Amino acid sequence: MSREVANEKELIGTGLRKRTEEALADDFLRKAVAFTTDKLKIGKKMATDDFGHWEDWRERGRQIRKHVVDNLDYYLTQFTDNVANAGGHVHFCQTADEAVKTFMSIAEVRGAKLVAKGKSMVSEEIHLNHHLEERGIEAIETDLGEYILQLAKETPSHLIIPAIHKNKQQIADLFSVEAGESFVPETKVLAEFAKQRLRDYFLQADIGLTGCNFGVAETGAITLVSNEGNGRMVSTIPKCHVVIMGMERLVPTYDDLEVVLNLLARSATGQKLTTYTSMITGPRREGELDGPEELHLIILDNGRSAQLGDPIFQEVLHCIRCAACLNVCPVYRHVGGHTYGSVYSGPIGAVLTPLLQQDMKEAGQLSYASSLCGACYEACPVKIPLHDMLVQLRARKVRLGMTPLAERVAFKTFQTTFGNVKLYRMATKSAYYLMKPFVSNGVIKKAPGPAAGWTKSRHLPMKPKQSFRERWDELQQELKREGGGQAGALSNGARERGQHHD
Ligand code: SF4
Repeated sequence: MSREVANEKELIGTGLRKRTEEALADDFLRKAVAFTTDKLKIGKKMATDDFGHWEDWRERGRQIRKHVVDNLDYYLTQFTDNVANAGGHVHFCQTADEAVKTFMSIAEVRGAKLVAKGKSMVSEEIHLNHHLEERGIEAIETDLGEYILQLAKETPSHLIIPAIHKNKQQIADLFSVEAGESFVPETKVLAEFAKQRLRDYFLQADIGLTGCNFGVAETGAITLVSNEGNGRMVSTIPKCHVVIMGMERLVPTYDDLEVVLNLLARSATGQKLTTYTSMITGPRREGELDGPEELHLIILDNGRSAQLGDPIFQEVLHCIRCAACLNVCPVYRHVGGHTYGSVYSGPIGAVLTPLLQQDMKEAGQLSYASSLCGACYEACPVKIPLHDMLVQLRARKVRLGMTPLAERVAFKTFQTTFGNVKLYRMATKSAYYLMKPFVSNGVIKKAPGPAAGWTKSRHLPMKPKQSFRERWDELQQELKREGGGQAGALSNGARERGQHHD
């Protein structure tokens, strides 16, 4: 039951515009995404108001994440030493390929045929399901949203609500096909089916695979949060538990964990804490009733260390994957997650994807999937300035000469015109006459040439024949004629303030 593996670079580079147009034309998708993200936003507001001093908590969260990332080598050593001391096996992997190979070698030694997966965006990042299927190993997603998408052969469209774009009827249809019987689109019925079906997989799985929300350096504890309890099942029932995590997902101490868990739950779902918070330190010990015989920890770099020491982009490693930036983003809200064509969507995806893939040409195009309104920064519980980073990514594309020729010519012309007052006046004057043939009822409904895209979804107002400066001068003359010294005063005052209106 593999999901379609996206050739991300190809999708992002060549398909972004097409996918955007398709998403914008999909009323169902837009309503579904808007409905759920609105609910999440309201939930977050209530949970953060209830907490009190939210800005102070955000700042505390930022400092914790900054401290960890600034000292990542130290905390990684401390964390992995503690995991090893508790009996876990630690594997550092530089690339996605290495991580896949490492997982496969563990699976081979154990003769694994079935892997039960908890929610893990890092496993999506390395397309693990696809590789498992190629090797004849069945991988079953046990997070409900991920399970739905696995049946639909789709990838997640939201960081924490992967099936945000699906409604109950669609889910009932998928479950009906899977079960060979017909289900009504009721939450209780659908959840019951998933529960029964997944229970078998928990019991039969040779390996349980999870992500790691936070590793606690002082003890080596692997922290998992979930609302369905599947993380706990996957990490305790199978004889082998494999954890795969991004190298930056650490906190120094349990005190710090308390802060980031509060920030995560309140920002992600508006909960005070997620329903299940599991802390796993090593495999099962003597005398313990549950837990795996073997625990493996795969720590993935895959482009992350390239951001360390970068004064502009290092902060992207502070992310705690709460998805609050997706929920407030006006672009995400209109196009949903699949439009981005990458595992990570929304504002964080638009920054993270080009950096992880170290690909400005194709993945770098995502930096334009933003209005730069800054809502993502306001929502982010660890204050990552995503909107600034998006501007910086665009600037990087320009410096690398990767923008289209027409865009470069347009901006050069803009720069020359706006840097020269005579040229500027000439341009604004001639704009009126250039626009005139296309105007009807005071607006241009269909602009010619490259401007056509702009008028596809809105009308372009006609430039007034008289500029503000001309009107200003005219008013002065009128006031003078009416005999007022007021006109001179008005004019001088404006000039002294250096105002130049055209
Ligand atoms: S960038 Fe901030 S808001 Fe977005 S997912 Fe990461 S932590 Fe959450």
